[in-house]
Amino acid sequence: MQRAAAQGTRVKPVGAGHSFTDIACTDGVQVQLDRFNQVLEVDSSTQKVTVQAGIKLGVLNDFLWDVGLALPNLGDIAYQSISGAISTSTHGTGLGLGGLATQVCGLRVVAGDGSVLTCSADEDPELFNAGRVGLGAIGVLSTVTLQTVAAFNLRAVEEPMRVDAVLRDIDRHAEENDHFEFYWVPHTAWALTKRNNRTSDPVGGRSRVKEWIDRTLLENVAFGAVCRLGRWNPSLIPRLSRALPSSGRVEYVNRSYRTFTSPRYVHFYEMEYSMPRDAVVDALHALIEWIDRSGLRLSFPVEVRFTAGDDIWLSTANGGERCYIAVHMYQGVPYEQYFRGVEAIMEPFGGRPHWGKLHYQSSETLAPKYPDWDSFQGVRRRVDPEGRFANAYLDRVLGPI
Ligand SMILES: Cc1cc2nc3c(=O)[nH]c(=O)nc-3n(C[C@H](O)[C@H](O)[C@H](O)COP(=O)(O)OP(=O)(O)OC[C@H]3O[C@@H](n4cnc5c(N)ncnc54)[C@H](O)[C@@H]3O)c2cc1C
Repeated sequence: MQRAAAQGTRVKPVGAGHSFTDIACTDGVQVQLDRFNQVLEVDSSTQKVTVQAGIKLGVLNDFLWDVGLALPNLGDIAYQSISGAISTSTHGTGLGLGGLATQVCGLRVVAGDGSVLTCSADEDPELFNAGRVGLGAIGVLSTVTLQTVAAFNLRAVEEPMRVDAVLRDIDRHAEENDHFEFYWVPHTAWALTKRNNRTSDPVGGRSRVKEWIDRTLLENVAFGAVCRLGRWNPSLIPRLSRALPSSGRVEYVNRSYRTFTSPRYVHFYEMEYSMPRDAVVDALHALIEWIDRSGLRLSFPVEVRFTAGDDIWLSTANGGERCYIAVHMYQGVPYEQYFRGVEAIMEPFGGRPHWGKLHYQSSETLAPKYPDWDSFQGVRRRVDPEGRFANAYLDRVLGPI
């Protein structure tokens, strides 16, 4: 870092490279932390765990389980690094829980001049509020301290329901389950629902073979084949989509992290919008009507999730409970008409785009969405006055230093 500072070179830390945007790209030096991936400390009395910033969630999850601990919530995959995941406000689902950055209780950060800073809620709280969801603009995270919980199992119930019935009862579903999410299948009246709840029951209910059939064969191999067929002949998509909800009801108990996350082998583009939780029904109705009118043929379901609010400055859940609506397009299929249309629909509902997923916003349109925008920019100027961590994406979404 000091050499880069002396030479005036830009620096960009990269995690697992799993963002859909160019947020981790640079024309300068890219810092890969893949081998900076150790667990440094486990405090079993407080359940706080300190890790090096490059550790992948999958490795961390296995380690934590072996010492009787777990992260309280996760997104759909575990390929990301901890630092990349928190930096873009990565989240899972569950109204009682925030995104991954809310699980952070301390950070060690290398600033633009090479100095090393530490922060927590008590020590330099401004850096802590900016650095937990820092978009890679607030220095290189070196270590992350996480508040973990005792390891737990989840009972998963996955079943198709009519989407109008899901929306009619949406508050009950979101409030009564620890983790509720659903996927509306375009061109059908169906949603695939997932309810995950904590249980003291042992792992069971689905054999390893059945799990492989569900998660690898159906959700990846067969779904990938459907997507390829749809890309080759889009007029087939509505008929193919009608087969998706026929999977039936599945119920099983598994370790928390194995229930939250799945393998993903089908490649796609994604946009995701966060909005106040109360907007979900109107936003989804507007989206469904627009898709029906648009003539678009969509082989990927629309994913809907919920989280608690938080007070992290650039968290997409800053200020109150949120729902998240995510849209996807299979690789190689033009997505711009779809994603621009969805963005225009989400905007009036107070929508904020996921920092690591595709969107068309700029600093001018984003600043009014975040009450603490100016405070974030103040910390950015303090730790990186020369724009060492800037790149084309940050120039667009945060503006110049
Ligand atoms: C298949 C798939 C599924 C996904 N599922 C979800 C989901 O369920 N929920 C969700 O919210 N998101 C999801 N995402 C998005 C993903 O979680 C984010 O894009 C995440 O940031 C990727 O992590 P990464 O380690 O690959 O980070 P990268 O993409 O490599 O980097 C992201 C940002 O983190 C910064 N960064 C990385 N390391 C450091 C460091 N040490 N210090 C400072 N900054 C750093 C980078 O500079 C960049 O700004 C998914 C993405 C994919 C591809």
